[in-house]
Amino acid sequence: KSGFISIIGRPNVGKSTFLNRVIGQKIAIMSDKPQTTRNKVQGVLTTNDSQMIFIDTPGIHKPKHKLGDFMLKVSKNTLREVDVIMFMVNAEQKLGKGDEFILEMLAGNPTPVFLVINKIDAIHPDELIGIIDSYKERYNFAEIVPISALQGNNVENLLATLSKYL
Ligand code: GDP
Ligand code: MG
Repeated sequence: KSGFISIIGRPNVGKSTFLNRVIGQKIAIMSDKPQTTRNKVQGVLTTNDSQMIFIDTPGIHKPKHKLGDFMLKVSKNTLREVDVIMFMVNAEQKLGKGDEFILEMLAGNPTPVFLVINKIDAIHPDELIGIIDSYKERYNFAEIVPISALQGNNVENLLATLSKYL
């Protein structure tokens, strides 16, 4: 099994931390390059039964200029062609304008979307159910997976669930 996965989400939710954990150190250097309009491969994870190709989709935020407008269009098209979209959010933050923009952009996209709630190490476990409910009422997610990219909690489970969609 092999497939493409796009990780989207507001800045600082932990996208790079997740990629660094699953792919390795090389990614940090790549992701520090300035944004380009090209969708680039950020890393490939090969396991016993699957190959996951993580790609960068730049410009998934409200465009401020013509180039941004173009980048958003390119990314929107890419998001229709990948096998899974990982929409990553920060468990410490309430659903905000940036998240709303992304969810509106995903409307009508047939690709399965995972809600990945990151930084669960930073919240009380009782808070999780409320967080899940607030996102659930906004989008029909294929899967909802809480993780800690930093500490590694539930990351193996996320990878196993992802591989079912390839
Ligand atoms: P990105 O902008 O989405 O790529 O976010 P980064 O991966 O750069 O992470 C932003 C900040 O959040 C960094 O300081 C990370 O150390 C921190 N961070 C990422 N994942 C976690 C997590 O699971 N738990 C906690 N407590 N912090 C995290
Ligand atoms: Mg990053």
